Amino acid sequence: MRLAMLKQNDRTCIVVMTPDGPRGLASDHAGYPGGLDVLLAGGVDLLEVGKRLLDAPAIRPDSPEFLPPVRKPGKIVCVGFNYRDHSAEAGVVDIPEFPNLFPRFANTLTGHEQAIELPNASSQLDYEGELAVVIGRGGRGIAEKDALHHVAGYSIFNDASVRDYQFKTSQWLAGKNFDRTGGFGPWLVTPDELPPGCVGLRVQTRLNGQVMQDGSTEVMVFGVARIITLLSEIMTLSPGDVIITGTPSGVGYTRKPPVFMKGGDVCEVEIEGIGILRNRIAKQR
Ligand code: MG
Repeated sequence: MRLAMLKQNDRTCIVVMTPDGPRGLASDHAGYPGGLDVLLAGGVDLLEVGKRLLDAPAIRPDSPEFLPPVRKPGKIVCVGFNYRDHSAEAGVVDIPEFPNLFPRFANTLTGHEQAIELPNASSQLDYEGELAVVIGRGGRGIAEKDALHHVAGYSIFNDASVRDYQFKTSQWLAGKNFDRTGGFGPWLVTPDELPPGCVGLRVQTRLNGQVMQDGSTEVMVFGVARIITLLSEIMTLSPGDVIITGTPSGVGYTRKPPVFMKGGDVCEVEIEGIGILRNRIAKQR
């Protein structure tokens, strides 16, 4: 199932993709099951929700506004340097023994076809195309053999990074938490549609149509199950938590000369089997 959250005429809609286009229900409809945040928190089976939505009214293609699939995750944990090729281009030669972790907060999220904001404070806004994992079943001390059973679905993330702020200090929080710099969506794809742990999927980032990153989840240092296990050693994972799994090589700041995103640019991240996340770059509101 491919599920998404939309906003149409100030109403929130939950939609499922069908062979003849998206179908869904708005929040003022009697049968509205709730948004994905609420469904995940309640432990509702998303496959069952998706099946019921297959008979819902068609969603008109009059520019629906996509919302992030999960709007207020309790935690957004990102993994840095998780692709060997990206570590090499950034001059990091040692394969880490433990994932490099940093947080994002919900203020950074922005939906498909919405703006990623170029902040007033910087002109060094860079793209990072990434696989996003949304937790369905929470837990602590999750064994690696069980970890993928805790995944509700997969999506796409643009971990857009404000490089000068990221490298002002050894902690990356500043450069990764500017408002509306994290493109997220459009679809939450349930795991039955994808290879286990999303291994071997092509991840491609295009800036104004030009391919900037073209990698594969095959070369992730820590795979999805391993990340879940290691994170759950530290913290209780909860339904709706989002894990951003790192980016392949080709980011802008390591290029010569460096490439940063400007107002009016369009950045697309495509992950095989999941879809295309498209954001335009706009000046800070
Ligand atoms: Mg990243």
